[in-house]
Formats: sequence, C-alpha cells, structure tokens
Amino acid sequence: MIKPVRDTFLVFGKPQIAQEDIDEVVDTLKSGWWGTGPKTERFEQNFVKYTKAKYGVSVNSATAGLHLSLKALDIGHGDEVITTPLSFVSTANVIIHCGAKPVFADVDLTTWNINPEEVEKKITKKTKAILPVHLHGRPVNMDAILKIAQKNNLYVVSDAAHAVETKYQGKHVGNIGDIAVFSFYVTKNVATGEGGMITTNNQKWANRMRVLRLHGLSLDAYKRYSVKHFTLYEAVEPGFKYNLTDLASSIGIHQLARVEQNLKNRKQIWQKYMKAFKNNPLLSLPAPIEKNVRHGMHLFAILLNLEKLKVERNEFVDLLIRQYIGSGVHFSCIHLHDYYKKTFGYKKGDFPNAEFLGERIVSLPLGANLTKKDINDVIKAVNNALDKIKL
Ligand SMILES: *Cc1c(COP(=O)(O)O)cnc(C)c1O
Repeated sequence: MIKPVRDTFLVFGKPQIAQEDIDEVVDTLKSGWWGTGPKTERFEQNFVKYTKAKYGVSVNSATAGLHLSLKALDIGHGDEVITTPLSFVSTANVIIHCGAKPVFADVDLTTWNINPEEVEKKITKKTKAILPVHLHGRPVNMDAILKIAQKNNLYVVSDAAHAVETKYQGKHVGNIGDIAVFSFYVTKNVATGEGGMITTNNQKWANRMRVLRLHGLSLDAYKRYSVKHFTLYEAVEPGFKYNLTDLASSIGIHQLARVEQNLKNRKQIWQKYMKAFKNNPLLSLPAPIEKNVRHGMHLFAILLNLEKLKVERNEFVDLLIRQYIGSGVHFSCIHLHDYYKKTFGYKKGDFPNAEFLGERIVSLPLGANLTKKDINDVIKAVNNALDKIKL
C-alpha cells in the first residue's frame, strides 16, 4: 500500500488568486460593463508593452487565437501547415478547422521542440505555414525556423501557450515570426479562466483578426461601448465569437503584473527539482537551458526511464495521485489520437522521438505559490513511487 505524503490533495496547476484580482473583478461587475470594453483594452495594451510586439488582439482562448491567426493568413482548403506532434491537440485541430491539413515534423530529443531539419523534409508545394510550439516555455530554435520559412516563403505562427515569459536571443517570442498566440487558461502562468492573446507586428492581420473575433463586424463595432451616437454595424466577413470579456481581463491585468516575480519563484522550484533528482537513474531531467534564451518555465517535466520500471507512465501518475500529488502529461502525441489515426493514417512509429517522449513524460507541480513543504512532498512522492515500481 502506498499512503498519502500529506493531508490534502496538491492540485496540479492551481491558479494564483490575489486580492487585487478579486477587487478588479468586483469593480468590473459593478461597472455594468462585463463584455469586451475598457479593461480588455487595458489588458491588451499591457500585454503589448510586455512583449514589445506592435499589436495585441485578445481572444477567449489560445485555440481561438490560433484559429484566427491561420484565418487571417488565408490558410484554407488544399493548404498544409507543419507542426509538432508533441503538443496539445488544439494546436493541430485549428489547422483542420481552417480546412487545411496538419503535417507533423518530429521533435528534437534534447529540447523536445520541433526539429527544424525535420520541418524542412516535410515541405511541399502545398505548405503555407510552420506552427512551432515553445514546449513547456523553452523557446524553439527560431533562427532555423525563420530561415526555412524565408527560403520557402512560409508564414510562422507560434503556439506560445506556455511562453508568456519566454525570450529568444533577448527578444520576447511574441515579437518573433509573423504571429504568436498565448493562452490564459486556468493552469497557465497568466490565467483568466479562459482567455488568450495574439501578438503580431502586422497591422493588416491585427485588424482582420479584430473583425473576425467579433462576428466579422466592421472594426467600428468594437468601439460600440464608447460610441456616442447610434450606428448600424456591417458584417464584412462571417466571423466568430472569440472576444475576451472585461471580467476575464480584470483578472489578467493583475496576473500579468505579477508574471516576472512568479517566474523567479518557479525558477527556485525548478532548481530544487533538478537537484533532488540529479542522480536518479530511473528518470531524466529537462536539458540545460540554452545560452541566450529565457525559458518561461511553465512546466517542469521528467521523463520516466521505462526500461528500468515495471509499469507504464499512467500507473506512475496514479501512484502520485494516491499520495495526494497531482501531476500532468504534456503531452501524449497528437498523431496517435483516434481522429488523427483514422483520418490521416498516422500510426505508432511515424514520429519516434515524439513518441518516446510522449510515453515517458510527466509534469510535476510548478506553481509560484507552492510552499517548500509542497515541493518536498512532491519529491518524496516521486521517490516513493519510483521505489515501488523499479525493476
Ligand atoms: C493550453 C494550450 C493550448 C490551448 O489553450 P486554450 O487557451 O485552452 O485554448 C494550446 N497549445 C498548447 C501547447 C497549450 O498548452
């Protein structure tokens, strides 16, 4: 029998809520303006300031943001978009929503990010864009990706859902490539419940996405809350309902203001885990962080050394749960999901590196609010579980 290492369950990815978040939400509730309005505009401006991108377009999820990005670039039927199989399924789903085909390129075994050499092999006449994911907050080799994109006339849309704090060669990832998309889902570093932000330096795309996120109504419609006289609004495209509310932005404004301090806290936890598991042959740790980049440290994942264990990863996760420690899997491979296997004929063996990682990966709790005791409990539980299942 394996017993809990603590009295209460340690929830994985629990959001950080401060009094200032609550006060701002209450202020918004009382203002009577709950929809997209002044708080959302403030949140967008703050985000743009933080990333130094020219434009910020808020949306109600990163999934919506990725969808709009591909729409703004006119990616559709007959087109192909190259992405990583080691990501959340929505990274590839949105390509299908546009009528295009997701084409996967295998990842690098060290960085776990998409391998530019593999991307190059997948380019066809139909390829329109590359969609890299800064997995866990570690930046993709963007120099190589941008070079390939330039050579082949492709767009680069980054899934930066894990990468609010990530920098590459001193530059924020929201400011690299054509478009980047961030997530404010509950478990993310900046959380608004549901929410997302698109950044770009291209005004035309930014404006088109602003239209598309609100039913395709002409841009003036966005100013409805400040308009002083009556106007009718025109639908200029069949758009979506992807706008972010002021209720959500109220939380985001303060979450964003704390983001640098929270990263410092997570960095300490990261180092603690690295030290605790350094010499354990039953698992592998994230690779050292490359020079000249800033890892956003959204997720800390270990790789189980399955060759030395009696059970699969999921049973290990269960053993953590039974010790009251929540953990996560980020991610099992997209191409091995039912729909992708059935529709595109993908099978085990197609992307060996991503599959190797996808079977072994486990994310440990990495919230800025975790106490020393929480972290020690996690370390203890991981060691207990490994002890129980080692060959
Ligand atoms: C969370 C996540 C998304 C989706 O974000 P939502 O805001 O929930 O739509 C996309 N890609 C990755 C890598 C994610 O982790």
